[in-house]
Amino acid sequence: MEKKYKHIETKLIHSGEPDPPVMGAVTMPIFQSSTYLYTGATSYHDLRYIRLNNTPNHLVLHRKLADLENAEAALVTASGMAAITTTLLSVLGPGDHLLAQDILYGGTHDFLRSDFASFGIGFDSVPGDDPDSWEQRLRPSTKAIYIETMSNPLLQVVDVEAAVAFARAHSLISIIDNTFATPIGFRPAEWGIDLSVHSCTKYLNGHTDIVAGAVIGRRDLVEKITHKLNHLGGSLDPHAAFLLHRGMKTLAVRVRYQSESAMKLAHFLEAHPAVAGVNYPGLESHPQHQRARKLLDCFGGMLSFELRDGTAAADHFLSRLRLPAIAPSLGGVESLITRPATTSHSGMLAEERRKIGISDGLIRVSVGLEASEDLIEDFAGALGE
Ligand SMILES: *Cc1c(COP(=O)(O)O)cnc(C)c1O
Repeated sequence: MEKKYKHIETKLIHSGEPDPPVMGAVTMPIFQSSTYLYTGATSYHDLRYIRLNNTPNHLVLHRKLADLENAEAALVTASGMAAITTTLLSVLGPGDHLLAQDILYGGTHDFLRSDFASFGIGFDSVPGDDPDSWEQRLRPSTKAIYIETMSNPLLQVVDVEAAVAFARAHSLISIIDNTFATPIGFRPAEWGIDLSVHSCTKYLNGHTDIVAGAVIGRRDLVEKITHKLNHLGGSLDPHAAFLLHRGMKTLAVRVRYQSESAMKLAHFLEAHPAVAGVNYPGLESHPQHQRARKLLDCFGGMLSFELRDGTAAADHFLSRLRLPAIAPSLGGVESLITRPATTSHSGMLAEERRKIGISDGLIRVSVGLEASEDLIEDFAGALGE
Protein backbone atom coordinates (compact mmCIF):
# COMPACT_ATOMS: atom_id res chain seq x y z
CA MET A 1 0.00 0.00 0.00
CA GLU A 2 1.36 3.41 -1.01
CA LYS A 3 1.82 5.74 1.96
CA LYS A 4 -0.15 9.00 1.81
CA TYR A 5 1.20 12.28 3.13
CA LYS A 6 -0.87 15.32 4.06
CA HIS A 7 1.31 18.33 3.25
CA ILE A 8 3.12 19.19 0.04
CA GLU A 9 6.48 19.78 1.81
CA THR A 10 6.40 16.20 3.10
CA LYS A 11 5.25 14.83 -0.26
CA LEU A 12 8.22 16.49 -1.98
CA ILE A 13 10.58 14.47 0.22
CA HIS A 14 8.71 11.19 0.77
CA SER A 15 5.99 10.56 -1.86
CA GLY A 16 6.74 7.75 -4.27
CA GLU A 17 10.09 6.85 -2.71
CA PRO A 18 10.96 3.13 -2.73
CA ASP A 19 9.99 1.41 0.51
CA PRO A 20 12.22 -0.14 1.71
CA PRO A 21 14.95 2.04 0.18
CA VAL A 22 17.08 0.45 -2.55
CA MET A 23 19.90 -1.42 -0.74
CA GLY A 24 19.52 0.97 2.20
CA ALA A 25 20.35 4.06 0.12
CA VAL A 26 18.72 7.13 1.69
CA THR A 27 18.72 8.86 -1.70
CA MET A 28 17.16 7.09 -4.68
CA PRO A 29 20.07 5.96 -6.94
CA ILE A 30 20.32 6.49 -10.71
CA PHE A 31 19.42 3.35 -12.63
CA GLN A 32 21.74 3.85 -15.57
CA SER A 33 20.49 0.82 -17.52
CA SER A 34 18.74 1.13 -20.87
CA THR A 35 17.03 -2.26 -20.65
CA TYR A 36 15.73 -4.64 -17.96
CA LEU A 37 15.29 -8.44 -17.68
CA TYR A 38 12.19 -9.72 -19.46
CA THR A 39 9.53 -10.72 -16.96
CA GLY A 40 6.72 -11.90 -19.22
CA ALA A 41 5.18 -8.61 -20.41
CA THR A 42 2.50 -9.13 -23.06
CA SER A 43 2.21 -5.48 -24.19
CA TYR A 44 4.95 -3.51 -25.95
CA HIS A 45 4.41 -0.68 -23.47
CA ASP A 46 5.18 -2.97 -20.51
CA LEU A 47 8.67 -3.98 -21.66
CA ARG A 48 11.18 -2.32 -19.34
CA TYR A 49 13.25 0.15 -21.36
CA ILE A 50 14.23 3.81 -20.88
CA ARG A 51 12.23 5.05 -23.88
CA LEU A 52 9.11 3.33 -22.53
CA ASN A 53 9.24 5.65 -19.50
CA ASN A 54 9.11 2.88 -16.92
CA THR A 55 12.54 2.61 -15.28
CA PRO A 56 12.73 3.06 -11.48
CA ASN A 57 13.81 6.71 -11.92
CA HIS A 58 10.72 7.40 -14.05
CA LEU A 59 8.31 5.59 -11.77
CA VAL A 60 9.37 7.40 -8.59
CA LEU A 61 8.92 10.78 -10.32
CA HIS A 62 5.52 9.77 -11.71
CA ARG A 63 4.22 8.90 -8.24
CA LYS A 64 5.70 12.01 -6.62
CA LEU A 65 4.44 14.46 -9.29
CA ALA A 66 0.92 13.00 -9.24
CA ASP A 67 0.86 13.30 -5.46
CA LEU A 68 2.06 16.94 -5.50
CA GLU A 69 -0.98 18.03 -7.51
CA ASN A 70 -3.37 15.55 -5.86
CA ALA A 71 -3.91 14.02 -9.29
CA GLU A 72 -4.31 10.41 -10.39
CA ALA A 73 -1.20 9.96 -12.54
CA ALA A 74 1.87 11.66 -14.01
CA LEU A 75 4.47 11.21 -16.73
CA VAL A 76 7.88 12.84 -17.13
CA THR A 77 9.11 13.85 -20.58
CA ALA A 78 12.33 14.98 -22.28
CA SER A 79 11.27 18.67 -22.17
CA GLY A 80 8.32 20.91 -21.45
CA MET A 81 7.64 21.10 -25.18
CA ALA A 82 7.67 17.27 -25.38
CA ALA A 83 4.99 17.27 -22.65
CA ILE A 84 2.91 19.92 -24.45
CA THR A 85 3.19 18.59 -28.02
CA THR A 86 2.73 14.94 -27.01
CA THR A 87 -0.32 15.86 -24.91
CA LEU A 88 -1.93 17.87 -27.71
CA LEU A 89 -1.22 15.18 -30.31
CA SER A 90 -2.71 12.55 -27.96
CA VAL A 91 -6.00 14.30 -27.26
CA LEU A 92 -6.46 15.78 -30.77
CA GLY A 93 -6.43 14.08 -34.18
CA PRO A 94 -7.09 15.02 -37.81
CA GLY A 95 -10.30 17.05 -38.11
CA ASP A 96 -10.27 18.07 -34.44
CA HIS A 97 -10.19 21.64 -33.16
CA LEU A 98 -8.60 23.28 -30.10
CA LEU A 99 -9.50 26.46 -28.24
CA ALA A 100 -6.31 28.02 -26.90
CA GLN A 101 -5.77 31.05 -24.69
CA ASP A 102 -4.51 34.00 -26.75
CA ILE A 103 -1.37 34.65 -24.68
CA LEU A 104 0.71 31.48 -24.59
CA TYR A 105 4.30 30.46 -24.00
CA GLY A 106 6.12 31.34 -27.25
CA GLY A 107 7.04 27.75 -28.14
CA THR A 108 3.46 26.56 -27.68
CA HIS A 109 2.09 29.44 -29.72
CA ASP A 110 4.60 28.72 -32.49
CA PHE A 111 3.71 25.00 -32.50
CA LEU A 112 0.00 25.78 -32.92
CA ARG A 113 0.63 28.38 -35.60
CA SER A 114 3.35 26.57 -37.60
CA ASP A 115 2.72 22.85 -37.13
CA PHE A 116 -0.90 22.16 -36.16
CA ALA A 117 -2.23 22.35 -39.74
CA SER A 118 0.19 19.65 -40.92
CA PHE A 119 -1.51 17.25 -38.47
CA GLY A 120 -4.94 18.26 -39.77
CA ILE A 121 -5.78 19.93 -36.44
CA GLY A 122 -7.39 23.37 -36.25
CA PHE A 123 -7.29 25.94 -33.44
CA ASP A 124 -8.70 29.29 -32.46
CA SER A 125 -7.34 31.72 -29.90
CA VAL A 126 -9.67 32.94 -27.16
CA PRO A 127 -9.08 35.76 -24.67
CA GLY A 128 -8.27 34.19 -21.30
CA ASP A 129 -10.09 36.95 -19.51
CA ASP A 130 -13.34 36.98 -21.47
CA PRO A 131 -15.02 33.56 -21.03
CA ASP A 132 -18.30 34.91 -22.43
CA SER A 133 -16.67 35.16 -25.85
CA TRP A 134 -15.40 31.56 -25.95
CA GLU A 135 -18.66 30.02 -27.15
CA GLN A 136 -18.46 32.01 -30.42
CA ARG A 137 -15.30 30.06 -31.32
CA LEU A 138 -16.67 26.67 -30.39
CA ARG A 139 -17.10 24.19 -33.24
CA PRO A 140 -18.67 20.73 -33.32
CA SER A 141 -15.10 19.43 -33.77
CA THR A 142 -13.70 21.26 -30.70
CA LYS A 143 -12.20 18.62 -28.40
CA ALA A 144 -10.07 20.52 -25.90
CA ILE A 145 -9.33 23.87 -24.28
CA TYR A 146 -5.75 24.93 -23.47
CA ILE A 147 -4.84 27.65 -20.95
CA GLU A 148 -1.91 28.80 -18.79
CA THR A 149 -2.29 29.45 -15.05
CA MET A 150 -0.27 32.66 -15.34
CA SER A 151 0.50 34.05 -18.76
CA ASN A 152 4.03 34.75 -19.87
CA PRO A 153 5.23 37.50 -19.64
CA LEU A 154 2.23 39.63 -18.51
CA LEU A 155 1.33 37.36 -15.56
CA GLN A 156 -2.37 37.48 -16.32
CA VAL A 157 -4.24 34.97 -14.18
CA VAL A 158 -6.69 32.97 -16.26
CA ASP A 159 -10.27 32.32 -15.10
CA VAL A 160 -9.68 28.63 -14.31
CA GLU A 161 -13.15 28.13 -12.86
CA ALA A 162 -14.78 29.46 -16.04
CA ALA A 163 -12.53 27.22 -18.16
CA VAL A 164 -13.48 24.12 -16.17
CA ALA A 165 -17.20 24.96 -16.34
CA PHE A 166 -16.92 25.63 -20.09
CA ALA A 167 -15.02 22.37 -20.68
CA ARG A 168 -17.62 20.38 -18.72
CA ALA A 169 -20.57 22.04 -20.49
CA HIS A 170 -19.13 21.19 -23.91
CA SER A 171 -17.38 17.86 -23.12
CA LEU A 172 -13.90 19.27 -23.79
CA ILE A 173 -10.66 18.04 -22.28
CA SER A 174 -9.15 20.86 -20.21
CA ILE A 175 -5.37 21.33 -20.30
CA ILE A 176 -3.38 23.91 -18.32
CA ASP A 177 0.30 24.87 -18.45
CA ASN A 178 1.07 25.16 -14.74
CA THR A 179 4.82 25.90 -15.11
CA PHE A 180 4.73 29.43 -13.67
CA ALA A 181 2.48 28.65 -10.68
CA THR A 182 4.15 25.32 -9.78
CA PRO A 183 2.29 22.75 -7.63
CA ILE A 184 3.17 24.95 -4.64
CA GLY A 185 1.08 27.84 -5.99
CA PHE A 186 -1.68 25.94 -7.79
CA ARG A 187 -2.90 22.35 -8.13
CA PRO A 188 -5.11 22.13 -11.26
CA ALA A 189 -6.69 18.74 -10.47
CA GLU A 190 -8.22 20.20 -7.30
CA TRP A 191 -10.16 22.67 -9.49
CA GLY A 192 -11.32 20.03 -11.98
CA ILE A 193 -8.73 20.47 -14.75
CA ASP A 194 -8.09 17.20 -16.65
CA LEU A 195 -4.38 17.64 -17.45
CA SER A 196 -1.61 19.94 -16.32
CA VAL A 197 1.66 20.25 -18.23
CA HIS A 198 4.96 21.56 -16.89
CA SER A 199 8.33 22.60 -18.08
CA CYS A 200 10.31 20.94 -15.26
CA THR A 201 13.30 22.79 -16.72
CA LYS A 202 12.04 25.72 -14.66
CA TYR A 203 10.87 25.64 -11.01
CA LEU A 204 10.42 21.90 -10.55
CA ASN A 205 14.11 21.23 -11.16
CA GLY A 206 15.04 24.75 -10.16
CA HIS A 207 18.79 24.65 -10.76
CA THR A 208 19.08 25.62 -14.45
CA ASP A 209 20.97 22.43 -15.32
CA ILE A 210 18.55 20.15 -17.20
CA VAL A 211 15.65 20.24 -19.66
CA ALA A 212 12.61 18.16 -18.66
CA GLY A 213 8.82 18.18 -18.70
CA ALA A 214 5.79 16.54 -17.10
CA VAL A 215 2.12 15.80 -17.68
CA ILE A 216 -0.05 15.36 -14.58
CA GLY A 217 -3.73 14.49 -14.40
CA ARG A 218 -6.44 11.93 -15.22
CA ARG A 219 -5.10 8.38 -15.32
CA ASP A 220 -6.86 7.39 -18.59
CA LEU A 221 -5.43 10.43 -20.39
CA VAL A 222 -1.92 10.09 -18.92
CA GLU A 223 -1.89 6.46 -20.11
CA LYS A 224 -2.88 7.52 -23.62
CA ILE A 225 -0.18 10.22 -23.61
CA THR A 226 2.39 7.70 -22.31
CA HIS A 227 1.70 5.42 -25.29
CA LYS A 228 2.09 8.36 -27.68
CA LEU A 229 5.32 9.41 -25.95
CA ASN A 230 6.62 5.84 -26.18
CA HIS A 231 6.16 6.09 -29.97
CA LEU A 232 7.35 9.67 -30.47
CA GLY A 233 10.34 9.02 -28.20
CA GLY A 234 10.58 12.20 -26.10
CA SER A 235 11.63 10.29 -22.97
CA LEU A 236 13.61 11.66 -20.04
CA ASP A 237 16.99 10.01 -19.52
CA PRO A 238 17.75 8.54 -16.06
CA HIS A 239 20.48 11.01 -15.18
CA ALA A 240 18.21 13.99 -15.90
CA ALA A 241 15.45 12.18 -13.97
CA PHE A 242 17.81 11.89 -10.99
CA LEU A 243 18.66 15.60 -11.14
CA LEU A 244 14.98 16.56 -11.43
CA HIS A 245 14.19 14.34 -8.44
CA ARG A 246 16.97 15.98 -6.41
CA GLY A 247 15.91 19.50 -7.41
CA MET A 248 12.22 18.95 -6.67
CA LYS A 249 12.81 18.19 -2.99
CA THR A 250 13.44 21.88 -2.25
CA LEU A 251 10.58 23.19 -4.44
CA ALA A 252 8.46 24.49 -1.55
CA VAL A 253 11.22 26.44 0.21
CA ARG A 254 12.51 27.85 -3.08
CA VAL A 255 9.15 28.96 -4.50
CA ARG A 256 7.92 30.53 -1.26
CA TYR A 257 11.16 32.51 -0.84
CA GLN A 258 11.10 33.57 -4.50
CA SER A 259 7.45 34.67 -4.13
CA GLU A 260 8.29 36.83 -1.13
CA SER A 261 11.27 38.41 -2.92
CA ALA A 262 9.22 39.01 -6.08
CA MET A 263 6.59 40.80 -4.01
CA LYS A 264 9.23 43.10 -2.47
CA LEU A 265 10.80 43.80 -5.86
CA ALA A 266 7.36 44.45 -7.39
CA HIS A 267 6.55 46.99 -4.64
CA PHE A 268 9.92 48.69 -5.14
CA LEU A 269 9.46 48.93 -8.93
CA GLU A 270 5.84 50.10 -8.69
CA ALA A 271 6.95 53.05 -6.55
CA HIS A 272 9.91 54.00 -8.80
CA PRO A 273 9.43 57.12 -10.98
CA ALA A 274 11.23 55.58 -14.01
CA VAL A 275 8.82 52.62 -14.09
CA ALA A 276 5.61 52.92 -16.12
CA GLY A 277 3.92 49.75 -14.85
CA VAL A 278 4.53 46.44 -13.08
CA ASN A 279 2.79 43.13 -13.78
CA TYR A 280 2.73 40.93 -10.67
CA PRO A 281 -0.37 39.03 -9.48
CA GLY A 282 0.47 39.82 -5.85
CA LEU A 283 0.07 43.57 -6.39
CA GLU A 284 -3.32 45.10 -5.65
CA SER A 285 -2.99 47.02 -8.91
CA HIS A 286 -2.92 43.73 -10.86
CA PRO A 287 -6.18 43.39 -12.83
CA GLN A 288 -6.76 39.81 -11.63
CA HIS A 289 -5.40 40.24 -8.09
CA GLN A 290 -8.63 39.04 -6.46
CA ARG A 291 -8.74 35.95 -8.68
CA ALA A 292 -5.05 35.29 -7.95
CA ARG A 293 -5.80 35.44 -4.22
CA LYS A 294 -8.61 32.93 -4.65
CA LEU A 295 -6.77 30.45 -6.89
CA LEU A 296 -3.13 30.65 -5.82
CA ASP A 297 -1.38 29.69 -2.59
CA CYS A 298 1.48 32.05 -3.50
CA PHE A 299 1.98 34.54 -6.32
CA GLY A 300 5.21 33.10 -7.70
CA GLY A 301 8.65 34.38 -8.60
CA MET A 302 7.91 35.94 -12.01
CA LEU A 303 7.17 39.58 -12.74
CA SER A 304 7.44 41.96 -15.66
CA PHE A 305 7.57 45.73 -15.98
CA GLU A 306 7.93 48.58 -18.42
CA LEU A 307 10.10 51.66 -18.19
CA ARG A 308 8.68 55.06 -19.08
CA ASP A 309 11.32 55.59 -21.74
CA GLY A 310 10.72 52.39 -23.71
CA THR A 311 13.04 49.95 -25.46
CA ALA A 312 16.26 51.99 -25.44
CA ALA A 313 15.87 52.67 -21.70
CA ALA A 314 15.19 48.95 -21.14
CA ASP A 315 18.41 47.97 -22.90
CA HIS A 316 20.35 50.63 -20.99
CA PHE A 317 18.90 49.34 -17.70
CA LEU A 318 19.76 45.72 -18.56
CA SER A 319 23.34 46.66 -19.43
CA ARG A 320 23.81 48.28 -16.00
CA LEU A 321 22.40 45.42 -13.88
CA ARG A 322 25.00 43.28 -12.10
CA LEU A 323 23.17 40.41 -10.38
CA PRO A 324 20.59 38.92 -12.77
CA ALA A 325 21.97 37.13 -15.81
CA ILE A 326 20.47 38.36 -19.07
CA ALA A 327 19.19 35.04 -20.35
CA PRO A 328 15.99 33.33 -21.41
CA SER A 329 14.37 30.65 -19.23
CA LEU A 330 13.28 31.04 -15.60
CA GLY A 331 12.65 29.36 -12.28
CA GLY A 332 16.25 28.75 -11.24
CA VAL A 333 18.17 29.67 -8.10
CA GLU A 334 19.78 32.64 -9.88
CA SER A 335 17.76 35.65 -11.03
CA LEU A 336 17.35 35.87 -14.80
CA ILE A 337 16.13 38.83 -16.83
CA THR A 338 15.07 39.25 -20.47
CA ARG A 339 13.18 41.35 -22.94
CA PRO A 340 10.52 38.84 -24.13
CA ALA A 341 10.32 40.48 -27.58
CA THR A 342 13.87 39.23 -28.22
CA THR A 343 13.62 35.85 -26.43
CA SER A 344 10.51 33.89 -25.36
CA HIS A 345 8.19 35.74 -27.76
CA SER A 346 10.55 36.33 -30.68
CA GLY A 347 8.67 33.55 -32.53
CA MET A 348 5.61 35.82 -32.61
CA LEU A 349 5.05 38.50 -35.21
CA ALA A 350 5.56 42.04 -33.78
CA GLU A 351 1.96 42.78 -34.70
CA GLU A 352 0.70 39.74 -32.72
CA ARG A 353 2.80 40.77 -29.72
CA ARG A 354 1.39 44.28 -29.78
CA LYS A 355 -2.17 42.97 -29.96
CA ILE A 356 -1.76 41.03 -26.71
CA GLY A 357 0.05 43.83 -24.91
CA ILE A 358 3.70 42.74 -25.06
CA SER A 359 5.60 45.90 -25.93
CA ASP A 360 9.16 45.63 -27.27
CA GLY A 361 10.44 47.39 -24.13
CA LEU A 362 8.80 45.01 -21.62
CA ILE A 363 11.29 43.48 -19.17
CA ARG A 364 10.65 40.08 -17.54
CA VAL A 365 12.32 39.00 -14.30
CA SER A 366 12.66 35.52 -12.84
CA VAL A 367 13.50 36.21 -9.21
CA GLY A 368 16.14 33.85 -7.83
CA LEU A 369 17.30 33.01 -4.34
CA GLU A 370 19.62 35.99 -3.83
CA ALA A 371 18.82 38.31 -0.89
CA SER A 372 15.95 40.56 -1.98
CA GLU A 373 17.81 43.54 -0.47
CA ASP A 374 20.75 42.92 -2.84
CA LEU A 375 18.43 42.56 -5.83
CA ILE A 376 16.57 45.77 -5.02
CA GLU A 377 19.85 47.66 -4.53
CA ASP A 378 21.07 46.37 -7.91
CA PHE A 379 17.79 47.38 -9.64
CA ALA A 380 17.87 50.82 -8.00
CA GLY A 381 21.44 51.36 -9.20
CA ALA A 382 20.66 50.31 -12.76
CA LEU A 383 17.59 52.57 -12.82
CA GLY A 384 19.96 55.43 -12.11
CA GLU A 385 19.33 56.48 -8.54
C1 LIG B 1 9.86 26.95 -20.78
C2 LIG B 1 8.40 26.77 -20.89
C3 LIG B 1 7.87 25.76 -21.71
C4 LIG B 1 8.74 24.86 -22.56
O1 LIG B 1 9.53 24.02 -21.76
P1 LIG B 1 10.95 23.41 -22.24
O2 LIG B 1 11.35 22.62 -21.05
O3 LIG B 1 11.87 24.53 -22.57
O4 LIG B 1 10.67 22.55 -23.43
C5 LIG B 1 6.49 25.65 -21.75
N1 LIG B 1 5.67 26.45 -21.04
C6 LIG B 1 6.15 27.43 -20.25
C7 LIG B 1 5.20 28.30 -19.50
C8 LIG B 1 7.53 27.62 -20.15
O5 LIG B 1 7.99 28.60 -19.38
